[in-house]
Amino acid sequence: MDKKTVADIELSGKKVLMRVDFNVPSNEGVITDETRIQAALPTIKYILEQGAALILMSHMGRPKGEANPKFSLKIVSDRLSEILDQEVTLAPDCIGAETAALAADVKPGQILMLENTRFHAAEEGKVKTDGLSEEEAAKADIKAAQDAMAKELASYADVYVNDAFGAAHRSHASTAVVAKYSDVAVAGLLMEKELKYLGGAVQNPERPFVAIIGGAKISGKLEVTEKLVEKCDTIIIGGGMAYTFQKALGNKIGKSIHEDELMDTALRILADAKANNTNLLLPVDNKIADDWSNDANTQIVTVEEGIPDEWEGLDIGPKSMELFADAIKDAKTVVWNGPMGCFEWDNFAAGTNAICQAVADSGSISIIGGGDSVSAVNKSGLADKMSHISTGGGASLEFLEGKVLPGVACLNDK
Ligand code: AMP
Repeated sequence: MDKKTVADIELSGKKVLMRVDFNVPSNEGVITDETRIQAALPTIKYILEQGAALILMSHMGRPKGEANPKFSLKIVSDRLSEILDQEVTLAPDCIGAETAALAADVKPGQILMLENTRFHAAEEGKVKTDGLSEEEAAKADIKAAQDAMAKELASYADVYVNDAFGAAHRSHASTAVVAKYSDVAVAGLLMEKELKYLGGAVQNPERPFVAIIGGAKISGKLEVTEKLVEKCDTIIIGGGMAYTFQKALGNKIGKSIHEDELMDTALRILADAKANNTNLLLPVDNKIADDWSNDANTQIVTVEEGIPDEWEGLDIGPKSMELFADAIKDAKTVVWNGPMGCFEWDNFAAGTNAICQAVADSGSISIIGGGDSVSAVNKSGLADKMSHISTGGGASLEFLEGKVLPGVACLNDK
């Protein structure tokens, strides 16, 4: 990696401000998945062991630029304190005089956590325009507000560390702009690991390189599909992604999820695959349902038979599972983003589970994109068979698309 990491700098006696991605899912104040906290622990422990004082900052949810107890990081500071068996003080805010005083007071080995950075509109480069006239709102200096917030955050510490891969595709005050005002800005160990796996797949994959794209966010994933078609040996398109392709090819898809306006892009991707000699696989059969429910009536139909008008495809069928598993069997690198069907419902999870099993059996370097693919892999019980499970859905997609991640670009070069 060409960016400096915490391992490249002197930390003893320093004050470190670290951006983490503690945007954990919760239900009625209870964290339902603490993967993101666990993923940040190696860097947190490393920094403390080196004798530095640690100030953590993160966003949580979408509080829309206003302090809102519903989005407080208290549940995370409490949990982190339990895990580390040490006090983690939560500041009342992430900026302001009271927080600055707490930050000034953190001693080596201690942890202060700042409150949700998105309690301020400036974090995301927005300005609250409530109560302003149209003219005033237009004049509001968005950039200056974001810069001021970033400068204030940077003033708390000697070193800025970014370990929030999941937020690295955003140019926010606490992710990228803060680095502008920090003398030293380096990557954390999680960030380094994410970039190592994803970067390896993009720049120098061991071949055969197989990409698997599924899920339902069709428009959000066609760009990465286009990029991967150029880079991989085989690309498998399944789940809700496949029906736009099937319809563009003239097959009947019933009520299945699709986007008509993307059919041209789908055809272009098919043509690109041919031109690049990339093996592009689409499902050859589907498990279809007569209702949007786990208890719907179901049938298996081939793509040639097509899906009747009132039915929709909610999983790939058994022949597709075989076809895809066969293509994955000899892979040396696999990148996977998006389930093969509505895996949340047991009756439509077989396709996704079959792919999980095939990836696990292949022994390949397997990289699982964030979001629902991670839940799917966890649900299948095969998570420990994967080489790398990314903590960032959007960020991992943008990285694979070849986009510059502002939260990485802002860090010091080696
Ligand atoms: P994404 O965020 O794009 O990875 O999409 C994940 C979601 O896609 C999951 O909630 C799945 O239930 C959903 N999904 C997968 N296949 C289908 C399908 N055939 N029809 C509708 N939704 C699907």
